[in-house]
Amino acid sequence: MQDLSRRRFMQGAAAAALAAPLVGAAATRARAASPKKLGVALCGLGKLSTDQIAPALLKTQHCRLAGIVTGSGGKVEQWTSKYNLPARSVYTYDTMHRMADNDDIDIVYVVTPNALHLEHTVAAAKAGKHVFCEKPLEISVERCQQMIDACKAADRMLGTAYRCRFEPHHLECIRIARQQELGAVRIIEAGFGIDVGPADQWRLKHSLSGGGALMDVGIYALQATRYLTGEEPVLVSAMETKTDAVKFKEVDETVSWTAQFPGGATAYCTASFKVGGIKNFRATADRGWFELDPAYYYGGIKGVRSDGKPLSFPQVDMFAAELDDFARCVAERRPTIVSGEEGMRDVRIMTAIYESIRTGRAVKI
Ligand code: NDP
Repeated sequence: MQDLSRRRFMQGAAAAALAAPLVGAAATRARAASPKKLGVALCGLGKLSTDQIAPALLKTQHCRLAGIVTGSGGKVEQWTSKYNLPARSVYTYDTMHRMADNDDIDIVYVVTPNALHLEHTVAAAKAGKHVFCEKPLEISVERCQQMIDACKAADRMLGTAYRCRFEPHHLECIRIARQQELGAVRIIEAGFGIDVGPADQWRLKHSLSGGGALMDVGIYALQATRYLTGEEPVLVSAMETKTDAVKFKEVDETVSWTAQFPGGATAYCTASFKVGGIKNFRATADRGWFELDPAYYYGGIKGVRSDGKPLSFPQVDMFAAELDDFARCVAERRPTIVSGEEGMRDVRIMTAIYESIRTGRAVKI
C-alpha cells in the first residue's frame, strides 16, 4: 500500500525528472525528432545559466534552448556556436520586444539579478512569451504582483523556478508529511547557508538583490516549511546576526526565524551568507522524523527516516525537470504548481521576516 501510494505520488512531474540525460549528438537527434519542443530563451547569461540551465536544456524532453538575451556582447559568439543558435534569436535587454516576431521562442527564462526580474518579465510578456523566472520572484510583493498582472494581461503563464518541487526526495518528503505516515509533523528545522564570496557582487547590493542570505538561500528553507506542511505560516519571529558590518552593510548576513503554522507545526530556520555547510531540513512528527541533508544542492540529495525505511531515489537534473514541467503546463494550458502567486507568497513572508528583524517583534501574516 505504501509503495503504491508512493508510486502514484511520484508520477507526473517526477516522471519527467527521471528521464535519462541526453548529450551531444543524442541531443541533436532528439531535437530533430521532436518538433513540438517549446523554445526557451535564456535571459541573463551568468553563472546559473551557463553552468546549470543551458546544460539542462540539452536533457529536456519538452523544450530546448532557442535564444538568448544578454547585455554582454562578448558572450554571444560562444553561446551561438556552442548551442547552434541563429543570429535572429540573439537579443539585448533593450531589444526583447522584437521577440514578438520570433516563433522559435515560446518561453523566456529570466535569470538576472532579483530586482531586474520585473523589467525582464514585463518585456517578455509584452512580446507574447510565457515567463519562467528565477527565485526570488522579485524583491517586493508589489513588484511580484506587477509581474503577475503583466503576464495575465498578455494571457501568458508565469512560473517561479523552484527546482526542489520537482526533485523525487523532496516529493517523497511531502508525501510522508501530508499523508502523516509518521504522524502529524510538529517541528521542522531547515537551514541553508553558503559562504557568499567576494564583496563586489550584486547579491550584496540591496538595490539589485532586495536582501541577502534570506532572499538568496533562506528561501529554500522557507519553501520547505511551506511545502511540507501544505500551509501558510501565520506568525514569524526573526533576528539577524551581523559579524561583518562592512561586507554586509546593505544586506542580511545570517538570519534565523521561527514560524507558526495553523495546523500546529513550528519551524526553526536559518539562512546565512557567512556559514557554509548548512543545507538540510528535518521534520519531526508524532511517531518519528525524516530529513534531507543535503537537501538543496544541485545533486547528491540524501534522505534518512527514523524508522530505517529507505528515503533514496535516483538523482535527477532539477533544472531539466522544472523546465519540462513548465513546458508541459504551457503546452497543455494547465496551471503550474510553481505559479507567480506561489513565488509571491514567499516574498510576502520574507518581507514579514525582515519586518520582525527591524521591529524586534513577532509579525502576524
Ligand atoms: P550571475 O551574477 O552569475 O549572473 C547574472 C547575469 O545577469 C549576469 O551575468 C548578466 O548576464 C545579467 N545581468 C543583467 N544586468 C545585470 C546587472 N546589473 N548586474 C549583474 N548582472 C546583470 O547570477 P546568477 O546566475 O547566480 O543568478 C541569477 C538569478 O538566478 C538570481 O535571481 C538568483 O537568485 C538565481 N539563482 C538561482 C539558483 C537556483 O538554484 N535556482 C542558483 C543561483 C542563482 P549578461 O552578461 O548575459 O547580461
